[in-house]
Amino acid sequence: MKPRAEGFAFHVLCNDPRTHARRSVLRTPHGDVDLPTFMPVGTQGSVKGLSMDEVASTGAKIVLGNTYHLWLRPGEDAVARHGGLHRFTKWPHAMLTDSGGFQAFSLGGHRDGRDKLVTPNEDGFRFKSHLDGAEKFLSPEIAVEVQGKIGADIQMQLDVCPPGDSPREVVEAAVKQTSRWAKRALSTPRPPKQALFGIVQGACFADLRKAHADELGAMPFDGLALGGFSVGEPKEKMFATIEEVAHTLDPERPRYLMGVGTPEDLLACVGFGVDMFDCVLPTRNARNGQALTRNGKVIIKNSKHARDDSPLDPECACACCARGYSRAYLRHLYIAGEMLVLRLLTLHNLHFFGELMAGARAAIEAGDYASYAKAALSRMRGGESDTVGTALV
Ligand SMILES: [Zn+2]
Repeated sequence: MKPRAEGFAFHVLCNDPRTHARRSVLRTPHGDVDLPTFMPVGTQGSVKGLSMDEVASTGAKIVLGNTYHLWLRPGEDAVARHGGLHRFTKWPHAMLTDSGGFQAFSLGGHRDGRDKLVTPNEDGFRFKSHLDGAEKFLSPEIAVEVQGKIGADIQMQLDVCPPGDSPREVVEAAVKQTSRWAKRALSTPRPPKQALFGIVQGACFADLRKAHADELGAMPFDGLALGGFSVGEPKEKMFATIEEVAHTLDPERPRYLMGVGTPEDLLACVGFGVDMFDCVLPTRNARNGQALTRNGKVIIKNSKHARDDSPLDPECACACCARGYSRAYLRHLYIAGEMLVLRLLTLHNLHFFGELMAGARAAIEAGDYASYAKAALSRMRGGESDTVGTALV
């Protein structure tokens, strides 16, 4: 089933012969997005530390905005008054907003006597603003209305995301409720030039995931997402489930894996058939003094960089590396608490993620994605970290 919203189209240009990776293009009212792609996260209408021009300079063609944060402040009506989030933030390319549910639940959700978050009821759920404690209510309809006013190109439906260690019956109930909420989201009016993606749940139960993917795939969503990963489940289980499920999502629509995004995750999951990613990792790690490079992680505060005149990555064309800022200078800025280093590392990390995905697209076009992913993973293992995963490529 093809995307239906006005101004949208999705074309698969080629499929990798040995993996489920595919090279495709998502047409939106704000331009074409080459897939697979990574979406930088602009939580409060800003990718932290950068102007939208700088974000665009990293090669990004789509960013993600968080509905929860924008809804609470400055409010969807304020964003709409200024012409929507594109105009408000001066972002010229495509934009996607989440439903707000994940953060409303995790940041403002009610907790029971055992400090467990209370499950949403059928209608929606109440939560308290983490800013001022005000009571708010979120439902599938409200999520569509709020995102409609914020005005991104792509909306996400409100879903129910159980913790990663939930028992099967809890996950089954969440899947069923997400389906009912999917129908309610689809029957809520939204601007014609806004797409709506459905969200497949099912934790690490691959059979539940596949059945849910089929159910949502029969609904007129413009794209399908895999939600509810990276919420506390073991990484090997997450990879095994995504490997089994991602390629079963309708091939005629974009497939978006929500909130999962180490470089190793991206390389593995592109091979499993995922087209779109988002994660705070490159921007958050930058603010913690970590650069991600094709040779692995660089922890800039480490003393080994104090006399190092070389850039983070001599092969990188980002504004930081191409200008020749040395590791020694970046380390000095970091130790001195200068904000410039956080901006430079953010520019570098987003550029690196963009390049990683551009390389993936080229490799798929050349018909050998597996070799590209394998070579990229093996280079990354040389970094200053012991956390490089054993991605299943
Ligand atoms: Zn760089």
